[in-house]
Amino acid sequence: MTDGIPLVSFRGITRHYGEGGGLVRALDGVDLTIERGEFIAIMGPSGSGKSTAMNIIGCLDRPTSGSFRFSGVEVTALSRDERAKLRRNYLGFVFQGFNLLNRTTAIENVELPLIYRGTPKRERQEKAVRALQLVGLAGREHHTPGELSGGQQQRVAIARAIVTDPLLLLADEPTGNLDTARSREIMELITRLNQEKGITVVMVTHEQDMAAYAHRVIRFVDGRIASDEARKAA
Ligand code: ADP
Repeated sequence: MTDGIPLVSFRGITRHYGEGGGLVRALDGVDLTIERGEFIAIMGPSGSGKSTAMNIIGCLDRPTSGSFRFSGVEVTALSRDERAKLRRNYLGFVFQGFNLLNRTTAIENVELPLIYRGTPKRERQEKAVRALQLVGLAGREHHTPGELSGGQQQRVAIARAIVTDPLLLLADEPTGNLDTARSREIMELITRLNQEKGITVVMVTHEQDMAAYAHRVIRFVDGRIASDEARKAA
């Protein structure tokens, strides 16, 4: 991973579904550069291509055409296994619905990505404890999701996403299931991870109040970037 190279580069990215009269241009020629350390909010109406773009950045889906480089590596040329490795090593994901394993304790949920990486048990536990401390959940290691509030569950999910020290955190409406106070707390946590740990953040949100935490707001309309504006952090 070389300095001076953008973390994410889209050049002429398209993603089409279907064909003929039923062709949907989910992404219709997107150019986008994301530098290390940025905190970006992605907004736009439903069906505008936000999830499609996130899935491509997250190496979960491939574009129909165009170039997608992650830290200089042309991801479109990688095999499925190579993309999975890139995901495991460099990306963290946070979703609206938390996506935790229900009958599994907080620490076990956070250890999961380290198990996939083959990290030895002791190191795994140490890292998971530290990640839970970082998100403000020290002492809750052995609680299951059912014993935690929504805000706390999202903190566990964030700890799980960052326990591998990812370069990029992809968050899909991370506060969509939370009340206003809890949403602010989660946004303050994500801001701290961006500022103090230097994790680049790309977050989809429908809420202006949440987008206000980002430094840059990109709006999608009809599979294209309609606006891309730097803004002051809240
Ligand atoms: P957003 O996340 O902004 O709501 P999406 O990226 O999910 O938008 O969708 C963009 C467009 O692509 C929409 O018209 C949607 O219906 C279409 N689309 C998304 N996924 C599929 C799919 N798997 N098959 C067919 N069309 C899809």
